[in-house]
Amino acid sequence: STQIQLVTRPSGWPTPENFRTVTVEYGDLQPGQVRVVNEFLSVDPYMRGRMNDVKSYIPPFALGETMTGGAIGRVVASTADELPVGAVVLHQYGWRDVVQEDAAGFRLVPEVPGVPLSLRLGILGMTGLTGYVGLTAIAEMKPGDTVFISGAAGAVGTAAGQIARLLGAKRVIGSAGSAEKVARLTERYGYDAAFNYKDGPVADQLAAAAPDGIDVFFDNVGGEHLEAALDALNPGGRVALCGAISAYNETGRPAGPSNMSNIITRGLTLKGFTLGGYFHLSGEFSERMTEWFSAGEIAYDETIVDGIEHTVDAFLDMMRGANTGKMLVRVGSS
Ligand code: NDP
Repeated sequence: STQIQLVTRPSGWPTPENFRTVTVEYGDLQPGQVRVVNEFLSVDPYMRGRMNDVKSYIPPFALGETMTGGAIGRVVASTADELPVGAVVLHQYGWRDVVQEDAAGFRLVPEVPGVPLSLRLGILGMTGLTGYVGLTAIAEMKPGDTVFISGAAGAVGTAAGQIARLLGAKRVIGSAGSAEKVARLTERYGYDAAFNYKDGPVADQLAAAAPDGIDVFFDNVGGEHLEAALDALNPGGRVALCGAISAYNETGRPAGPSNMSNIITRGLTLKGFTLGGYFHLSGEFSERMTEWFSAGEIAYDETIVDGIEHTVDAFLDMMRGANTGKMLVRVGSS
């Protein structure tokens, strides 16, 4: 099995030298085990946080061990009745082409004709659920709300924008980092307005896109975006703090918003979340998302990088914005 490990902790932007590729030989299957050949690996922004040696909601990656994370593959050998050969499984064993472990570490996924397996790592999986939870349980979005989403062309953002519309938002506004992405937000994802945050101050562009203010802010970016939203939020506005990717590779302490007093004077609610606390909503999400998806209401993009040897590059490219929708590594072909 080819596996990618973290060997040193990055300061600022990670480099390929922080990682190494190793070959691991698995022995015969023990009772209750499966061997799985991965088809797709997920690369996610939260992984950057786990590369630091700091106490957080999940422990740091161990140095010299294989990078863990979401992946989907197929059982090729099994001594576990519940996961027969051929079964498709989701798991968290991460950046490796083959994994062999106890069956308990894998979740059986139904194979549905017309539904690519990769979507189980994106719009129909973790990132779709994140968009749903952030809007519903965290921001308590209501029909008629004007919703602003940062990082709108990414995996979580493309899910959140469409879900906001389907839940009856009056107006959905998104920001992203290129002209192509901005065009896609309005043309493909149903955003009412979108802007490129690199074109000028976010506060000015948001004010122009939301002349009547915003009621909900779904934040993937933090920093300047959060400060701009605090100025644009209407009284009683709500913010789902999902991520703050603008600071993930910063070495110093990022500056806080200068306009926190708006939280008081406008009675705003800012609530952070990590998905781990909301898996109880995955049944509800899956029911509603399946219905929307089958009705053709959900568009998606995937940026797929071929070959496990390009996993580190795929991760870094995603952090730099090379992806539209979900960034994935396809293991098999190279
Ligand atoms: P994305 O698919 O959105 O990929 C990351 C994107 O971030 C890039 O494509 C890039 O797009 C954008 N970006 C990078 N640097 C900056 C910057 N300085 N300013 C603004 N945008 C930037 O990743 P995900 O959808 O997987 O994750 C999105 C966010 O959601 C992240 O903050 C992540 O940590 C968070 N998250 C939180 C979860 C939770 O449980 N709370 C669960 C899953 C994700 P662009 O070209 O637009 O710059």
